[in-house]
Amino acid sequence: MGHHDRRATDESPVDPGAAVVPLLPLLRVRAETAARDLPDLGAALDLLREAGILRAVLPAPEGAGLGWAPGTAHALSDLLRRVGAADLALARLVEGHVNAAVLVETHAARPARDAMRAAVRDGALLGVWGADGAAPLEWVDRAEGGVRLTGGKRFASGLGHVGLALVTACAAPGAPPRLFLVPADDPARHDHDAWTASAMRATRSGGFDATGLVVGDDGVVGPAGALMVEPWFEGGVWRYCAAHVGGAEGLIERWTDLLRRMDRLDDPVQRDRLGRATAEAVAARAAVEAAAEAVAAAAEAPPDAVERAVAHGLMVREAVEGACTRILTLCERSLGMAAHDGRGPVDAMRRDLSLFLRQAAPDAKLDRALRCAETVGPGGLR
Ligand SMILES: Cc1cc2nc3c(=O)[nH]c(=O)nc-3n(C[C@H](O)[C@H](O)[C@H](O)COP(=O)(O)OP(=O)(O)OC[C@H]3O[C@@H](n4cnc5c(N)ncnc54)[C@H](O)[C@@H]3O)c2cc1C
Repeated sequence: MGHHDRRATDESPVDPGAAVVPLLPLLRVRAETAARDLPDLGAALDLLREAGILRAVLPAPEGAGLGWAPGTAHALSDLLRRVGAADLALARLVEGHVNAAVLVETHAARPARDAMRAAVRDGALLGVWGADGAAPLEWVDRAEGGVRLTGGKRFASGLGHVGLALVTACAAPGAPPRLFLVPADDPARHDHDAWTASAMRATRSGGFDATGLVVGDDGVVGPAGALMVEPWFEGGVWRYCAAHVGGAEGLIERWTDLLRRMDRLDDPVQRDRLGRATAEAVAARAAVEAAAEAVAAAAEAPPDAVERAVAHGLMVREAVEGACTRILTLCERSLGMAAHDGRGPVDAMRRDLSLFLRQAAPDAKLDRALRCAETVGPGGLR
């Protein structure tokens, strides 16, 4: 179907966290079926598109300024958590879409902002592809204007779905990266075979070859190093943590259903496991929502307060990873073989969450947060 957003135009602006609620049963059924077939999120993305959720990143009144306008952090957390509970791969793509919009709205001059907004208006999904391939992405100035890219990306999520991608490229190895907005829909540039992980296959992640792409003013997003400006960079990790918490909530729902079907829900040992897992999920959600608020409040704050909010967010990332890992262990112990049944409701969610939690460079993040905590004490991070 085309990229036109019929229903949403009459009802703008949309509250994305609420707008996704009626879609959740459908998204969940679709995810469970897709886990067995060749995974494809095209139909699920169409549902979000038609409900106006992808357009929510546009400025009001067309959208809600989702992710970058003040007061939108809570709705975004709800959206990513709820979509994550239905389908973690879909949440991965929605998070990339919002992340790209945040970076463009925060750092880009008018031409690239206009180009991004026009694409989103037309229904495009956005992505952020930072991880370099074997030949890292580099840019050179062209005599006739604009820059020319060579090299490629790996782990690029949404191949075939993402219309415009924000990619990082350096002038030389080790130089601070610049962000460029590039058309991402040419299948000849996609390498689906590069994704060899057994989980999150529906994200359609893989290699993207950017060699030969020429970028003009409407593709330039900020100066070199803009990507790393806080609180937008590491401060943004709470977004994928919200998806992780959603995945944990979705896992607990499926696990509870399965125990009920096995007539084991009244067993006191099973209730103890489920209760402890639920407590972990409740605490993780509260932590993510607090991090989202702290980071949003830091947008206008002095540098030391920005660093504290970022460190707080990174500590929350660590706590969420710990909570999700414990939930996975409890679930696997509780269900035994049934947790690993490839045709059952739990296995795909379990594997997707376990992989998604690996994002990204956790040791470095924890170390950075700890350096900040060492000077202000753990209670001083917020
Ligand atoms: C589902 C999914 C979707 C993704 N989608 C995207 C996307 O759309 N765009 C994108 O850019 N990226 C994407 N990524 C990639 C992600 O951003 C990271 O690049 C990736 O997860 C890192 O992979 P890794 O675990 O092999 O990393 P590594 O860096 O090898 O980390 C593995 C472990 O080693 C540790 N480590 C790292 N460096 C060192 C070192 N020098 N010495 C000692 N220990 C070290 C890490 O802390 C970690 O504990 C995606 C990842 C996943 C899982």
